Amino acid sequence: MASGDMQMLEGTIAWVNAAVAQLGIRDDMRDVIVEPWRELTVSIPVQMDNGTVRVFHGYRSQHNAARGPFKGGIRFHLAVDQSHTRALGMLMTFKSALVNIPFGGAKGGIQVDPRALSERELIELTRRYTRGINHVLGVSRDIPAPDLGTNSQTMAWIMDEYSALHGYTPGIVTGKPVELGGSEGRSESPGRGAAIVSRLAALDRGIGGESPSIIVQGYGQVGSSAARKFVEDGARVVAVSDVSGGLYNPKGVDIAALDKLLAEGGKFSDFKGEEKVSNDELLCLEADVLVPAAIEDVLTSDNAPNIKVKMVVEGANQPTTTAADAILTERGIPVVPDILANAGGVVVSYFEWAQNIQQFKWKLDRVYAELTSIMETAYRATQEYAMANSVTLRSAAYTLAIQRLHRAIELRGFLK
Ligand code: GLU
Repeated sequence: MASGDMQMLEGTIAWVNAAVAQLGIRDDMRDVIVEPWRELTVSIPVQMDNGTVRVFHGYRSQHNAARGPFKGGIRFHLAVDQSHTRALGMLMTFKSALVNIPFGGAKGGIQVDPRALSERELIELTRRYTRGINHVLGVSRDIPAPDLGTNSQTMAWIMDEYSALHGYTPGIVTGKPVELGGSEGRSESPGRGAAIVSRLAALDRGIGGESPSIIVQGYGQVGSSAARKFVEDGARVVAVSDVSGGLYNPKGVDIAALDKLLAEGGKFSDFKGEEKVSNDELLCLEADVLVPAAIEDVLTSDNAPNIKVKMVVEGANQPTTTAADAILTERGIPVVPDILANAGGVVVSYFEWAQNIQQFKWKLDRVYAELTSIMETAYRATQEYAMANSVTLRSAAYTLAIQRLHRAIELRGFLK
C-alpha cells in the first residue's frame, strides 16, 4: 500500500465518521456504531500430515446485531488478523443495512494459506475452528458464509461439525452445497449483484451505451460470476485476471471458453489468443468500467491517478483505499461502493437462511428475480440520496446504512 493510504480498519472508520457527521448523530453514539459487540480469538492446533502439530489463529468479530443476527463470511487467508476481521465485520453490518435485510454484521477467519494444506489438514482446521467458536454461533445468533479462501465445501464441514454438537442445523451457515440445503444461485450471486448495479449506475451516467467495456480484476467467486452476468447482459468483458496475471482483448475475452478451460483444470496462462497483461497493467487499461473483485487495497494513491475507466464498481470488500477514493472523486470517476456492489452474496444468503428455516426450496428464477429487486431498490435509494445531497455514492451508502442502524439501536432501547 502507498504511504498515506490508511489501513483497512482506519479507512472504514473514516467513512463511518463522515456519515455520522452528515447525519448529525451525537459523538458518543458514534462509538456504539463503530465498536464490535463481541470478538473471539481462538488458537487451533492441527496435526499436520508430516506428524508435527501447528497452531493456527482464528477469529470471529461480531460487529453489530441491532438489526438481526450477526452475519458474514469466513476468510482463510494469510492477511487475516483481528483488525482486518473487525473492519470486514463492520462492512457486513452496513451492507446488510443498506440492502435492508434482517441481519447485522460479522466476519471470521483463519490466518492460513488454504492452498498450502492437504484436504485432511483443511477439514481438521475447519472442524477445530468451528468447535472453538460454536458457542457464539446460532441460526438466530450468528450465521457464517464463504469468503476469500473458503467455499461451499468449507460450509458443509462447518455445518457438519456444528450439527454434531447441536443436532442437524442446516441454517447455521449459508453458501452450502445445493445438495445440503444451499440456495440455487448462491454461488453466482455476488458477481451477479455487482453486474446489476453496475448496469444501472452506467445507464444513469450515460457510460458505455448498450455494450459497455468491462475490466474484471480477480476471477474468484465474485469476479467470475460478475463476468458471466456482464456477458449475459450484452457487455464486453475486455480484460480479466487472477493472481497469476491477466488477459486482454479489446473485442471481448471469450468468458465461456475461459470458464471451460478453468473447469478442466487449466490456468489463465494456458488461455490462447488473448494478450497477456500483468495485474498492475490491467488496472490501468482503457475501458468503461473497472471491477476490482479480488482483495482490499488494490486501488491506492499510487495507481488511482492512472486509472483510465469511467466508473469503478467494487466487487471486493474495500478494494479502494481512502486516499485512492479521494483521487478518483477529484477526477470525476464515480465509485460504486462495496457495501452496495458486492451485497448480492449476502442477499442470497438471506434467501438461503429463510429457505432453511421454512424447509422450503425456491427455484432459481425466483432467487434471481428477488435478488434483482433488492439490488435495484438499494441502488435507487443510494443514487437518489447521493443526488439530493451532492455526495458520492459511497457517502450516500454509508449514510443510509448508518441511519437505519442508528434507528434500530434507538428503537431497541439499548441506551435508555
Ligand atoms: N463473504 C460475503 C461478503 O463479504 C458473503 C457474506 C454472507 O453471505 O454472509 O459479503
